[in-house]
Amino acid sequence: MMDLTSDISELPKVGPIFANKFQKLGINTLEDLLYHVPSRYLDYSNITTISHLRSGEIATIHAKIVSLKNIYSKRGLKMQIGSVEDSTGKVAVLWFNQPFLIKTLYPGRLVSLSGKVGFFNRRLSLTSPDYELMVEEGTETMHTGRFVPIYPETSGFSSKLIRRKMYDAYSMTKIEEYLPENILKKNKLIGFKNALEFVHFPKDLKEAEIGRERLAFNELLNLELRSLIRKNNWQKNKLAHKLELDNKLLDKFTKNLPFKLTESQNKVIKEILTDLKGGIPMNRLLEGDVGSGKTVVAAAGMFAAFASGFQSIIMAPTQILANQHYQTLKKIFDKFNLRISLITGASKKIEIGRSDIYIGTHSLIHSKVNFKEVALVVIDEQHRFGVEQRKHLIKKSGTPHVLTMTATPIPRTVALTSYGDMDLSILIDMPVGRQKVTTWVVPEEKRPSAYEWINKQIKSSNSQAFIVCPLIEDSETETLADVKSVTSEFARLKKTFTKLNLGLLHGRLKTEEKERVLKDFKNGNIDILVTTPVVEVGIDIPNATIMVIEAGERFGLAGLHQLRGRVGRGISKSYCLLFTNVHSGKAYTRLKAMEKTYSGFELSELDLKLRGPGEIFGTAQSGFPELKIASWNNYELIKASRQAAQEISANLTKFPWVKNRIIDNIKQ
Ligand code: ADP
Ligand code: MG
Repeated sequence: MMDLTSDISELPKVGPIFANKFQKLGINTLEDLLYHVPSRYLDYSNITTISHLRSGEIATIHAKIVSLKNIYSKRGLKMQIGSVEDSTGKVAVLWFNQPFLIKTLYPGRLVSLSGKVGFFNRRLSLTSPDYELMVEEGTETMHTGRFVPIYPETSGFSSKLIRRKMYDAYSMTKIEEYLPENILKKNKLIGFKNALEFVHFPKDLKEAEIGRERLAFNELLNLELRSLIRKNNWQKNKLAHKLELDNKLLDKFTKNLPFKLTESQNKVIKEILTDLKGGIPMNRLLEGDVGSGKTVVAAAGMFAAFASGFQSIIMAPTQILANQHYQTLKKIFDKFNLRISLITGASKKIEIGRSDIYIGTHSLIHSKVNFKEVALVVIDEQHRFGVEQRKHLIKKSGTPHVLTMTATPIPRTVALTSYGDMDLSILIDMPVGRQKVTTWVVPEEKRPSAYEWINKQIKSSNSQAFIVCPLIEDSETETLADVKSVTSEFARLKKTFTKLNLGLLHGRLKTEEKERVLKDFKNGNIDILVTTPVVEVGIDIPNATIMVIEAGERFGLAGLHQLRGRVGRGISKSYCLLFTNVHSGKAYTRLKAMEKTYSGFELSELDLKLRGPGEIFGTAQSGFPELKIASWNNYELIKASRQAAQEISANLTKFPWVKNRIIDNIKQ
């Protein structure tokens, strides 16, 4: 008997070449194989006799081959034509392009045939049925005569082969239940072994579904356990500095702001301050739509660090954003005696004097900041950083409090699982006076009139516009081709908007050049900024009221929403124009959703349904796992598995399997 951890090569007739192929599919152990679930099933369960065959139905018969011959059609097609019989009658069979069949299916052989009944040459026939030899009537069949699983297309593996290996794996492996009875009962789940049987060898679709539900639960539970254990590890035996901000100081801070905090800003600030004074390192994710005011919330935390004699760091994804934070924080703290430094690429080598807040890009990691005194690390726009970069910065300060911020609204199911090691704070309301950005999907034929409208709009209301070109490749960074395409678009647009000043911005410009362009845009010397999606994050130009996005279908909803958030920041009415030449399909549905939906959260739920998480977050970048069995849209199951994970992780000694299966696999 083998067990689930046994290597795939221990299966009979799986040599090194096969094993290697399996490994390429991510299948190393028998457990991996058994979790390789069918993508669909063929219903071949209707076993009947030849006299009962009806055209149009899908049926299985057990019959003897009467004849089978290779025949060449006039058009050069090779067909295998013949007939089979049982005690009730005879029926024609035919296949295409399988000349080798006649060697196996020769007269007298007993076969099980499953397929669609139709007509050929006006005679009832089975066309290209799936077949399987039978030793005698009553032989168990695997590929016909039952619910037959079809496995996801995999290079070099037919479903037939996988079915055989699956059968071996299932029947030769010791499969034990590892969840307690009460959890199974509460969630109406069947046993593990039973579930595997139902998924790979179901009697009907119902069984397949019941089995799948259990395997999906297992998959989610694994994820949940991982994140909960990571959370425990983060907090366990670790001390963080207690950072306190008394009410008087908090009051002073709030009163000094040029605006009134929103209800959710106040609430989230409280959540953060509570964490900070607890002595256990905070690990909190602050989620808030573009423009919801996350910076000031982070500032309150940094103020608490300052008031307790410690330092803070804030890491931004771009130099432009770091500069902007520097300006903002200087303003917020102008009445207080805080020292704030901006760490730029250029300053990282020189000695840095003591500061209370350090602002910078990832170059902070290698700077000479005295990390020992850093008690709070803020990571802005976290999805723009790799997991490693984030870890690096945090590690340098030992066990700091960590506040991670994102404007990418994370669907609740995803937040519960993959981000389950963080506590979540959400800014649900926007500062008052923010207005909805009127959004239009603009088909290609309306481009000229759209340009005319933009021209007029800019002149009459003295406003400004962004025109964003997509990246050509699906990559995170700009390539030379992108630069070329945005540059030629810039040249083209200059001829269209002859009376306006146009500026060009892309990631490959030198930092000073970028800053100069942005400054010109900010002070109104540029009317239209033609740019790649580098403007997506953070920048604040209140006078810009028009956002034009080229090839809108190339963006995800989160990206579009971010871009749209660049306008509508001032008092004037703002617009977003989404150019596209698609007129139907999922991509079009996504774009049309932008016309009606203004909530980033709703858009992200929709994106999850339409595209899946991999594309929303960029799997590699965020360390985001793909689900193989469960679905991100199954909120109920995710909630249930989370609860079970909590029960289990609170009682680890009772569940020794967690150590081998989960804990030992977590790389800290
Ligand atoms: P984001 O959440 O996108 O990082 P920011 O922190 O950059 O948003 O804030 C966007 C703008 O809103 C800034 O100009 C900021 O000063 C302003 N702001 C923040 N909170 C409020 C508020 N409660 N009322 C009015 N304006 C606010
Ligand atoms: Mg921000």
